[in-house]
Amino acid sequence: MSEPVLETRGLTRSFVQGEAVIEVLRGVDLKIAPGEIVALLGPSGSGKSTLLQAVGLLEGGFGGSIRIAGREAAQLDDKGRTAVRREHLGFVYQFHHLLPDFNATENVVLPQLVRGATREEAEARARDLLTALGLAQRMTHKPSQLSGGEQQRVAVARALANRPALVLADEPTGNLDEATADVVLAEFLQLVRNQGSAALIATHNERLAARMDRVVRLHDGLLE
Ligand code: ADP
Ligand code: MG
Repeated sequence: MSEPVLETRGLTRSFVQGEAVIEVLRGVDLKIAPGEIVALLGPSGSGKSTLLQAVGLLEGGFGGSIRIAGREAAQLDDKGRTAVRREHLGFVYQFHHLLPDFNATENVVLPQLVRGATREEAEARARDLLTALGLAQRMTHKPSQLSGGEQQRVAVARALANRPALVLADEPTGNLDEATADVVLAEFLQLVRNQGSAALIATHNERLAARMDRVVRLHDGLLE
């Protein structure tokens, strides 16, 4: 088997809340193969976002091991973490976090320029992605001029722009009405599959999770 895009071993994370220490992750082992799409289920408060933040190298403070594309997180400094994020990861959040002063195209172009693409390449890629997501007529709109579903589609395009090996999504359609959530998630999965990226997608929608390759559940700080 080829090397996993993500492997965690014994991943732990605790928070101090007042006098108490709560152990949110108590030893999570998770392996994701290239191109595999995994649903991360678990009730509210079970630690889905905490797990995604840890594997997204967005936060320190965890114990155990995280390997992304063969790189051990604990051995990386700030610069190394940023490089791994840029090179291998894409993120979609529940709320889109688009840059409000930039239009849809620019929001998708910018992460590609950071990664070293030419403006021409980046604009062509943005046009392709936004068109595939039904936004051909929205490319010069700013986020505030777009509906919630359209904003989330732009966020999807941005996350996929650099063809990351692993896409991390934290309730990517949690902010949308059910019908829109279904459509946007289906489009998202299709694009991820077509480009061969792997994905770890937190959701509490069992029906949507059933469309993914595998389901893992967080329960009492462990994956079952
Ligand atoms: P989920 O995404 O599954 O709803 P979270 O990962 O957001 O769960 O939270 C899991 C638990 O960790 C919750 O009890 C939450 O209160 C706690 N938690 C998350 N982040 C912090 C933090 N920065 N400080 C203290 N507690 C936190
Ligand atoms: Mg969460």
